[in-house]
Amino acid sequence: MNHPWFHRWKLGATLLIAASLLTIAAAQPVHAEASKPAPKTPVAASCDRAHFRLILDVGHSEEVPGAISARGATEYSYNLNLAQKIHAKLREAGFSKAHLLVSSGKANPSLVSRVSYAANNPADLFLSIHHDAVPDKFLEKWTYEGRSHNYCDRFKGHSIFVSRHNADYPSSLLFGKLLGQQLKTKGMNYAPHYVEKFMGIRQRELVDANAGVYRFDNLVVLMSTTMPAVLFEAGSIINRDEELLMGSPEHQATIASAVTTAVESFCAAQASRKPEQRIARRPQQVQVQPSSLFPIFFQPAQ
Ligand SMILES: [Zn+2]
Repeated sequence: MNHPWFHRWKLGATLLIAASLLTIAAAQPVHAEASKPAPKTPVAASCDRAHFRLILDVGHSEEVPGAISARGATEYSYNLNLAQKIHAKLREAGFSKAHLLVSSGKANPSLVSRVSYAANNPADLFLSIHHDAVPDKFLEKWTYEGRSHNYCDRFKGHSIFVSRHNADYPSSLLFGKLLGQQLKTKGMNYAPHYVEKFMGIRQRELVDANAGVYRFDNLVVLMSTTMPAVLFEAGSIINRDEELLMGSPEHQATIASAVTTAVESFCAAQASRKPEQRIARRPQQVQVQPSSLFPIFFQPAQ
């Protein structure tokens, strides 16, 4: 997990966010229905797929590609491939406003561009796609196609991260749970080792043991986005068997299907929320200055 997304804010680093909330509040329709009797059973809210806005963030960039797999491929290539499959599946299901966010540049400029895009293009959900590796201390050597590579077969599985610092933590957690449950339904197991002490600074609190949702408060793309946000590590590409699985089109289709079903459920659940509960996702006038993101504290590599 050699991710720039594990950078933490240095104390004092801020986003400059100016929200025109008064204008927005004034624009909301007034409902004078107080005299109407309440229905005996609530009407199930339906998901408006054509208007549901989702940002599908491809983790890392070509220039800074993240982890390197057991066979020498970049994490970015896996992220891009899987995100494209998920994007296509979502569009096929009617989510025409699903946007594939591909960033370029080095770690910090790429981070700024992601946060800026999310801030200026308010969405109902931000989902960042990654693939996992392990701390360096667990790496072993093997030879593949005549070249020496690192690998670790000890850990496998996907993992889902949410941040309590996100503008809408309850909704972030809800989507995390829905996604985890869908993956479980399809026979996939989450990576349990993040709770272990040996993970050191990467040890995480498991907030949902059924769905496999972990808490990672200081992950920049989760804490600085103004909409529900989840980071999904789809599987470990440093594990030799799991790398092959992650490269399989059938497995990618299974994941894309699980994500799409989870988005459908989330979309329906959000449709039943009151407008004032969704204030965080309304358009905001946001300026993200590179200087406001720096200096970022880099966690030491393991
Ligand atoms: Zn990553």
